[in-house]
Amino acid sequence: MSWSKTFLEWTQDHTAYLSVVFTWDLPAAYQRAVWLREQGYTVKAGGPAVMLMPDYLADVAECNGEQVPALKRHNPHATFTSRGCIRRCPFCAVPRIEGALRELDDWQPAPIVCDNNLLACSRAHFDRVVDRLKPLSGIDFNQGLDARLLTDYHAGRLAELDCMARLAFDSVGYETDFMRAFELLRSAGFPKFRVRAYVLIGFQDTPADALYRLRTVAELGIDPNPMRYQALDALEKNSYVGEHWTHSELGRYMRYWSNLRYLRGVPFEEYDGQKRKPVPSGAWF
Ligand code: SF4
Repeated sequence: MSWSKTFLEWTQDHTAYLSVVFTWDLPAAYQRAVWLREQGYTVKAGGPAVMLMPDYLADVAECNGEQVPALKRHNPHATFTSRGCIRRCPFCAVPRIEGALRELDDWQPAPIVCDNNLLACSRAHFDRVVDRLKPLSGIDFNQGLDARLLTDYHAGRLAELDCMARLAFDSVGYETDFMRAFELLRSAGFPKFRVRAYVLIGFQDTPADALYRLRTVAELGIDPNPMRYQALDALEKNSYVGEHWTHSELGRYMRYWSNLRYLRGVPFEEYDGQKRKPVPSGAWF
């Protein structure tokens, strides 16, 4: 169920298509577009990164013109049942590139559900989604479920699925909603291993704030999934360093909390952030 690691490219007749998800892949996409043009192709580019920075490829490709479905090329197991979002979180690209929430009528059931905010959809849409996903296994709401909107009705219906529920704990201000959503999922029958929590770090927080949220999640017995903030126009991944952080401290947080299952015996305060990714005990290398 893996995603493509960089921008995608395919050709049809004399047209080459580039689909670029992350802005830090734009420099490589630019070089590729130059080469494709030299081979005689008309180059067309789209995707979230091109929508965020429409000028970057403008002199080597036609950008954001024709709508070409590319999701299945990035991951054949992925689907969207809605696009857009009701919120405008300042760290998120969705409000800028997708706009207001809209429910889709025509979508194919698939296990990786990429909706930005499924719980903001109408009850009728949510019920249709659950009903159509029911025959599938290994469902993952990989963009997270909005803890502020989760109700016992949602939790009960989601528990009918063989699914992973992902919440987000992006700010201490969301703690009450996050805890309430976690308890609703547990009461509906979700085992802890079927709940995960995204934890945004390095945006407007401090290391102490991030540590509190990461520890709170871990103490619930679920794995935090730390997400390092990336500027929406970053041409290099991990180049943004918030005012309360250093590059090395962000790296230390990411390495430790992304590998908590191997590091439970190592107190975070004693963790040497310069070490490479830890090797699981018993591994032969
Ligand atoms: S709720 Fe999620 S998708 Fe919507 S703006 Fe906030 S982070 Fe983005």
